[in-house]
Amino acid sequence: MSKRRDLLYEGKAKKVYAAEDPALCVVEYKDDATALDGAKKGSIPGKGAINNRLTNHFMTLLEKSGVATHYAQELNDRETLVKKVEIVPLEVIARNIAAGSLAKRLGLTEGFQMSRPVLEFCYKSDALGDPMVNEYHIAAMGWASPEEVSFIARSALRINEILTGYLKGFGVELVDFKLEFGRLPGGSLLLADEISPDTCRFWDSKTGEKLDKDRFRRDMGGVEGAYQEIYRRIFERVEG
Ligand code: ADP
Ligand code: UDP
Repeated sequence: MSKRRDLLYEGKAKKVYAAEDPALCVVEYKDDATALDGAKKGSIPGKGAINNRLTNHFMTLLEKSGVATHYAQELNDRETLVKKVEIVPLEVIARNIAAGSLAKRLGLTEGFQMSRPVLEFCYKSDALGDPMVNEYHIAAMGWASPEEVSFIARSALRINEILTGYLKGFGVELVDFKLEFGRLPGGSLLLADEISPDTCRFWDSKTGEKLDKDRFRRDMGGVEGAYQEIYRRIFERVEG
């Protein structure tokens, strides 16, 4: 793993490199942060390492509950070996409590507890601002088959159940989050990308304090501290 690797892709929060094994790739988590479709840019010191370790921790937990993920091996603080997949061009959003764009769109107060989880699909396109789409768009454009969409929806709801219960044990409410899925060469689907304070809304169960990227998006201050707090709660207990 020490030899120079070819950069396959540089995104807003991560870099993806080729690995020695062509079935794998190396993901490097950056401290860079963007919001408002890339219009707002900044850096959150320590974020890359926190997101790397939290993602790997959540993916390992999900694997233990039977959810197939891309996770292969943590290489160091910021880098992880993952199974290389063809990403399904959808952002799959699961929501328990109304916040962000849902609250705005439906005129709901942030914090409204919905009677059941809500799933949304967005077409993954920075240029278009990730527009929301439904099953009909997805099938008509050939982004995923109806069978794949139903697998993705069932997986997202199961992941929501597992993570919601797990986080409650740490005094954290899982408000909403974004997932990405990918296909292995044989066509089977895996959970890919990341699960971190960049891609989830985490609220303190007692105080409602935001422990996620909304502090950056909304210029609330205490951004680094929020990432550190989520990390501390989970890893202090896990590592004793
Ligand atoms: P963005 O592309 O939105 O700026 P990132 O900075 O997080 O996002 O870049 C990481 C890229 O790697 C994303 O496009 C994501 O879809 C992709 N990706 C995540 N997991 C895998 C994987 N296992 N195989 C291939 N690509 C992946
Ligand atoms: N999200 C994400 N990437 C995106 C858009 C959303 O990770 O490109 C996550 C976001 O962190 C939140 C959830 O998906 O946990 C729902 O986001 P929302 O649609 O409310 O969008 P926002 O308010 O961030 O514009």
